Amino acid sequence: MWTSDKIRSTFLEYFADKGHSVVESSSLVPVNDPTLLFSNAGMNQFKDVFLGIDRRSYSRATTAQKCVRAGGKHNDLDTVGRTARHHTFFEMLGNFSFGDYFKADAIRYAWEFLTEVAGLPQDRLWVTIYRDDDEAYTLWQELTDVNPRRILRLDESDNFWSMGDTGPCGPCSEIHYDRGEQYACGSNCALGVCDCDRWLEVWNLVFMQYNRDETGLLTPLPHPSIDTGMGLERLASLLQGVDSNFDTDLFTPLLAQIEKLSGQKYDRGENGFPFRVIADHSRACTFLIADGVLPANDGRGYVLRRILRRALRFGRLLGINKAFLYQNVDVVCSIMGRSYPELLEKSDFVKEVIKMEEERFLVTLNEGLKKIEDILEQAREQGRNEIEGEEAFMLYDTYGFPLDLTEDMAEENGFTVDKDGFSSMMEEQRHRARQAGKGENAFARDIQIAELLTHTPPTYFSGYEKLRDKASLLAIIKDGELCDQVADDELLVVAASTPFYAESGGQVADSGIITGKSGKMQVVDVQKVASWFIHRGLLEGSLQTGEELQLEVNQQQRTATARNHTATHLLHRALRQVLGEHAQQKGSLVEPSRLRFDFSHLASLDEDELEAIENMVNQAIWTMYPVDTTVTGINQAREMGAIALFGEKYGDQVRVVQVGDFSQELCGGTHVGNTGQIGLFKIISEGSIGSGLRRIEAFTGKYALDYLNQADAELKAIANTLKASPDDIHHKVESLTRNLKDKEKEIESLRSRLSQASSADLLQKVVQVNGARVLIAKVEGVDANTLRQNAEMLKDKLGSSVVMLASVIEDKVLLVCFVSKDLTGKGLHAGKIVGAAAKAAGGGGGGRPDMAQAGAKDSGKIDQAMAAARQIIEKSFS
Ligand code: ATP
Ligand code: MG
Repeated sequence: MWTSDKIRSTFLEYFADKGHSVVESSSLVPVNDPTLLFSNAGMNQFKDVFLGIDRRSYSRATTAQKCVRAGGKHNDLDTVGRTARHHTFFEMLGNFSFGDYFKADAIRYAWEFLTEVAGLPQDRLWVTIYRDDDEAYTLWQELTDVNPRRILRLDESDNFWSMGDTGPCGPCSEIHYDRGEQYACGSNCALGVCDCDRWLEVWNLVFMQYNRDETGLLTPLPHPSIDTGMGLERLASLLQGVDSNFDTDLFTPLLAQIEKLSGQKYDRGENGFPFRVIADHSRACTFLIADGVLPANDGRGYVLRRILRRALRFGRLLGINKAFLYQNVDVVCSIMGRSYPELLEKSDFVKEVIKMEEERFLVTLNEGLKKIEDILEQAREQGRNEIEGEEAFMLYDTYGFPLDLTEDMAEENGFTVDKDGFSSMMEEQRHRARQAGKGENAFARDIQIAELLTHTPPTYFSGYEKLRDKASLLAIIKDGELCDQVADDELLVVAASTPFYAESGGQVADSGIITGKSGKMQVVDVQKVASWFIHRGLLEGSLQTGEELQLEVNQQQRTATARNHTATHLLHRALRQVLGEHAQQKGSLVEPSRLRFDFSHLASLDEDELEAIENMVNQAIWTMYPVDTTVTGINQAREMGAIALFGEKYGDQVRVVQVGDFSQELCGGTHVGNTGQIGLFKIISEGSIGSGLRRIEAFTGKYALDYLNQADAELKAIANTLKASPDDIHHKVESLTRNLKDKEKEIESLRSRLSQASSADLLQKVVQVNGARVLIAKVEGVDANTLRQNAEMLKDKLGSSVVMLASVIEDKVLLVCFVSKDLTGKGLHAGKIVGAAAKAAGGGGGGRPDMAQAGAKDSGKIDQAMAAARQIIEKSFS
């Protein structure tokens, strides 16, 4: 049985037998290619080898490469689930020759593998070649038994490949499988004409034989190369005898799982579309997150977010109304985990990320779905069949609907979306955001400086070897202009070489002093612009271009910074060890006084984890690992296992910082020579800085000691105040807290006794009016609440009664009146009573018949107010 695992390994073994090195798939996030969103072909990781920039120890290689085609130039998102053969995530099997064998062997191997190893029937196979590639035609005829009538010549658009507008390119040759007439899409159905599922493109062989220059001219490459790619899923569908990639063992367990989650049966036809999309997207999300991509609002993270949200919406179509996608991760792992162990290692993390994103989107999904119904309804009424850009943007901005999700729904309802309108709204928003933010000026400044320095040679950085250097002064920039001589001013200085480290990779710039014949400059900042090191500082005296400078870095600061930088490497290693390999660096700040380290992890770290991490770093410090740096090719570095950072751009030559056998990272920063120099490492805070992102701040060396000393001093001071020894402090604070609680209880009870006593005094002032008890009294030293409580309590105590209390609080009169229920029926009205009383003291107010309160500003007239109350009460009784 041709399981997908067996197909993959058979392929790799076949080419290994033919002298190919089996190379691991590279990450879906291209490490060394900012022009590429995701790895989308086997050749990506060999691009520099094909270009001749990079060399390997082998000249033939074979891989099974993880690919995603869901954004950028290659985007198959829309076709997924509609055809039997397209996915967002898929595996590409490939063999490569770097100036080794060429067309003849590439053709021979491909044919032999498909027909003899895999055993596909020859009479089903078709071959396409580039129109003018007679060489390929002859080779196919001579070396294989393909039926010559099944060799088709196609145009450049189909069968000519190029790496970019310029650079390596060449004709290609594709092998197709004819599934048979019963799959024909119509009478015009033919290979090279239609795009239906009858003709399955299985394998593409690229013959890299030319170099294209800016004018479009092709010149033959001295060492032509081979790059091939075959979709594993497609080959599996043929070898497992099924009509669709979705019916192979790579997908059936996923479809079964979706059947279980939705309670619905999978249908191979049109109705099964949501099933296929969800199955496909589950794989893509799992692999992308395992390779370090997190949902975000731009770049790679946004592609992931779009795929994930789209899957969720299709889940909704199947009646799944809760987070579910994360439950497919284990299924993906069970299918692919044997070949991609990183999945198993990170599956918990992947699940958590997916679940969090699902829950986040579910909050707005329902509202958004309602909103889109409204929008469609309104459009219908207006006779439109297009969703406006503004509406699509609102769905995006308010409800988190990626554009393609809105497009899906529009299409289902026979609508289109104004994409240009959407894009311009997006652009406007970005523009606003940019205006609001900073950083743009820095870019403009860099361009300006680079223009000024076009004729200045690049700066040599001597700061890895020494902290003091002599070099000639090449350029002075003042107020945005070059000048030859300056005195006493703020300026920018460029020298032929410098020991000053320019801010980069999170490490701050060195400070120090630059001295000339008759001037001295305090360096406050150093920035690298293109290949120049720009020193900014304040000059005392004068400087002149051409003169020799003494450049001297502040050694103390440099050493303190180096401690922190090496410590971040130790921390990075410890985080991965304690939390898992997913805990990857996402940013850092390295200063002399502290370090800050941002990394991907979902939960907050508990005390035990923090302790374990801190211990591991300190252990590494005390082990006194030597710190060595080597400069080597990027690929050797990766083969050494050095950690590269996502999103960092590395040149061909990289610097590897090796801390004993504890850690290896690509890094351009300055480090201590031995971890022992760090002395001590102390974490001072840990927290969240966004979804899935955490931040640790820490001190090293003297700063860590100062921190602990200060904490110790504070502890002693507290102990002193508490009259306890530091050891006893905990105990003491506990007993003080207990004491305080007891005292609070005591105060509470005293207060209530006091208020009872004062109400006992007040009771003496009760008078009888018409058989009812009336109490009108002044109370001192209470707040409004107590006054109210007292009045109510007195009323309850007195039974059939009217109680009005007055008090001066913060220079104003406050009046509170309660009337018992029986008396409100007899014409007594608390609101009217306080109203009249307040009026007599220059205020006003009122309220309910049984309870009211009012204020007046004239505190001197409190007695008049009470008299007025008495009057109205007596009048009400008569
Ligand atoms: P198609 O025309 O079928 O989309 P392609 O010309 O884009 O294929 P290539 O770029 O030549 O394909 O990629 C090499 C091989 O990778 C293809 O022959 C096919 O087997 C496989 N492949 C390409 N795109 C996908 C995809 N989206 N899903 C699955 N397999 C794919
Ligand atoms: Mg394609």
